[in-house]
Amino acid sequence: MSRMDAATARAMVDRTLYQGETVRAFGAARDMNALTPTLVDSSPNFWVAVTESRFIQVGEASGKATSHRLAEPQVLELRKKLFVGGWLRFDPAGLGPELGLALLKVDRSLMRALDVALADRAQAKPLPKESTTYSVEVVKNPAYVASFVGEESHVLVCDTCGGYCGEVVDGEAQPQPDCTACLRQVMNPA
Ligand SMILES: [Zn+2]
Repeated sequence: MSRMDAATARAMVDRTLYQGETVRAFGAARDMNALTPTLVDSSPNFWVAVTESRFIQVGEASGKATSHRLAEPQVLELRKKLFVGGWLRFDPAGLGPELGLALLKVDRSLMRALDVALADRAQAKPLPKESTTYSVEVVKNPAYVASFVGEESHVLVCDTCGGYCGEVVDGEAQPQPDCTACLRQVMNPA
């Protein structure tokens, strides 16, 4: 299982950036919602970043980045607490506390940065329309799923940012419409 540090997470965020897009808030966050079902060996630790156009999350357990256009998530709001920092409530599809809500605990300095970066998120700058291609990567499956899905899997990774773009099923590439990490449209390699 990969365990990341802040520098690795930040480098992963930076690789997803578009020209002129900058990171306005970045830091560690810990999901305090104990109701959300979690897999064995998953981690409540994340890094979050906000740019002019996107909210980006990097999971310590998954080692992957995912992002959303700022205006898209049903719930993406800060609950501020005096002295201790705050909570970022994030629920992209609005599924509620038992199915999709993350309660991301952040420290005071990240809370301040998020407060500024998330203001007026409905009016966020639109992303430029860009596309990307993918490559096939072999990943070793964690021991607890190896007996079901085999020792290794083939996944599709984005040639621009390294993010997850789909799976290989029965020898056939099944790309997603957009890269989950940078949201660029995924094209088939020539
Ligand atoms: Zn990408």
